[in-house]
Amino acid sequence: MDYYQHGYNDVLRLQPGFDPPADHGHESIMTIRILPSIVAAGIAAGEVVERPASVVKELVENALDAGASRVTIELLQGGMERISVTDNGCGIPYGEVETAFARHATSKLASLDDLDRITTMGFRGEALPSIAAAAHVSLVTRVTPGDAATSIEITKGVAGPVATASGAPGTTIVVDDLFANIPARRKFLRSVGAETGRVRQVVERLALGFPEVQCTLTSGDKQLFQSQGNGSLRDVWSALHGSESAVQMLEAHPAQVAVYSVRGLISPASFSKANRSGIDLYVNRRWVQHRALTVAIEEAYRGFLVEGRFPLAALFLEVSPDALDVNVHPTKREVRFVYEGDAFSSVQRAVREALLAASPLIEAASLGPSYAGGSLAAVAPSFQFSAAADTLPVLPGPDSTSEEAGPSASETTVAGLRVLGQLANTYIVAEGPGGMYLIDQHAAHEQVLFDRLLLQWEKQLPEIQALLDPIPVEISPSQEEYIVEVLPTLEQLGWQLESFGARTLLVRAIPSISAQVSIPDLLEELLAPRRDPTLAETATHYAMAASIACHGSVRAGQMLGLSQMKALVESLERARNSHHCPHGRPTTIRVSTRMLEREFRRT
Ligand code: ADP
Ligand code: MG
Repeated sequence: MDYYQHGYNDVLRLQPGFDPPADHGHESIMTIRILPSIVAAGIAAGEVVERPASVVKELVENALDAGASRVTIELLQGGMERISVTDNGCGIPYGEVETAFARHATSKLASLDDLDRITTMGFRGEALPSIAAAAHVSLVTRVTPGDAATSIEITKGVAGPVATASGAPGTTIVVDDLFANIPARRKFLRSVGAETGRVRQVVERLALGFPEVQCTLTSGDKQLFQSQGNGSLRDVWSALHGSESAVQMLEAHPAQVAVYSVRGLISPASFSKANRSGIDLYVNRRWVQHRALTVAIEEAYRGFLVEGRFPLAALFLEVSPDALDVNVHPTKREVRFVYEGDAFSSVQRAVREALLAASPLIEAASLGPSYAGGSLAAVAPSFQFSAAADTLPVLPGPDSTSEEAGPSASETTVAGLRVLGQLANTYIVAEGPGGMYLIDQHAAHEQVLFDRLLLQWEKQLPEIQALLDPIPVEISPSQEEYIVEVLPTLEQLGWQLESFGARTLLVRAIPSISAQVSIPDLLEELLAPRRDPTLAETATHYAMAASIACHGSVRAGQMLGLSQMKALVESLERARNSHHCPHGRPTTIRVSTRMLEREFRRT
């Protein structure tokens, strides 16, 4: 029986008056002809079945849709010789075994409206026929413990008889000699190792998405991976990346923006990669690639990771199926959001809040993060902004500040750190919980100002300094173009700029923290078009805020008075993400008393 005769051939055959096109006898013009069904099926199969990993993905997704709690995947020769997937799911009833292999046959969708309510991994009814067109397939399935099992074999797209067999409840599908009959596709397969690696990646992603399902992957007689299936995402992470990594991963802050909610695991700042391959994103449990959401994650790490480093994450976005289009891509690798901005914000917030809450202090002893108590975060009263934080001086002028410069500040701040002095005109030396603290004065001030700018932005209340004498600044043609794009962002940061004839800007107001800086120099930096034009507006905003903060802060090598240093340390204790500057460098290093005792051999 040929299952592919119900393809588009039938549609054409139904049209009245349709005749096969005549051959005009030109050698160079190819005759249009209707492809034999097996060829058509082979072409369609290419969309879904590209290599062993895509077969495994489809079969495991079917097992998950069938409600399995255990899925075992076995490979021979990277899946090129054999892929076998066994599940303990609901099985396929005897009467439906043949239909399952027909094109567009699915139990998961009945009407067009159902496309808006997809909750299963599959719904297109393409996988089984596509796989059967590309390999030798045999299936054994059993619905309930009482019933007998059913088996069927499909060779070159032609099904053999449905027979009674023996087998446990659930389904086993064995796919042999993938692409044996499609040499063009076989050519694109790589080494056994490479194909095995791809399968592994697919299974790992699925396992992360379904922690309650025990997934086992073997290659020959070697077990490559097994998840526990106990429902714990962290345990799956541990099975994939080792227990040390699993212990360090942070719980994403449960964030909800409009219809989107987020949960998952993210890496701490101490833990990163040189590329984006450690970022796994799921939408309604489906692993997807999504440029904007990846940017949202990277953005959230701004200031925590230095440029060129990327986090690890397994993040899950949940949204009601009607605010989502999953039918964008044949293998469903991409999705579209009805409200993309909200999806972006929910992801960014979930990651950012988790990082801020865990912001580690760098320890001199290990030069690694400290998760123990006694960090700055632990002694600061809270990370919330008090009214005092809003009115903190940028930084008092040379010793002009008396001790009561921040009287309200001292009331709201636990005196966590006692400033002792300045080292090399660059570092503030302080005593605090558990040891000595060295604070990089530039990085610290930068972070204080950066955080203040972000806070003003969140409240939409920029602190502005109006200029009595507006400053004219010359700009280049490219800057003139760029400024149109970023003017709203600049205004939100406190700038008031006017065009003043050709290639000249008139600066009427500046962010108040830029009062002491060279405005033309700062504008030159702000108006250098950003490298990545796909970056969201928030990214531009963060980058600009970082530049303004950098220009406005004290330099290394600048001598500071005691009261200036105290004011700075107090502001730092209250800033969010106080342990890192906007560029990801640490602001503070602790030399622990324990380390001193050890070094001085007191213990
Ligand atoms: P889809 O998953 O898009 O529905 P498939 O071609 O992957 O299409 O599968 C066709 C149908 O076969 C499914 O809708 C389901 O009813 C049935 N099926 C496939 N695999 C399994 C399985 N492992 N357990 C139970 N039913 C299955
Ligand atoms: Mg399927």
